[in-house]
Amino acid sequence: MSTEYHIRIDRTACVGVFACLVRDDRFEEAPDGLVTIERADGSDEQADETIARFSDDRLADARLAARACPVDAIDVTVIDDA
Ligand code: SF4
Repeated sequence: MSTEYHIRIDRTACVGVFACLVRDDRFEEAPDGLVTIERADGSDEQADETIARFSDDRLADARLAARACPVDAIDVTVIDDA
């Protein structure tokens, strides 16, 4: 089932534990040692607040990554269930 959702990362909260990476491989280590996320179009960003929008069947992976983050730096918001 395809779901439309946002993943928001608060990079000011991230401490680089990388518990998220092993749950969802769209999360990546950025050159600054903090996390970033690969967007659907292949780009990524290293702003303090990084938001990526997806429409796919990987919502569960994103939620696992968010739950694993020890500092709650990741938010997943569902926009639309198709
Ligand atoms: S799990 Fe949280 S603190 Fe760790 S790298 Fe991911 S976003 Fe940063």
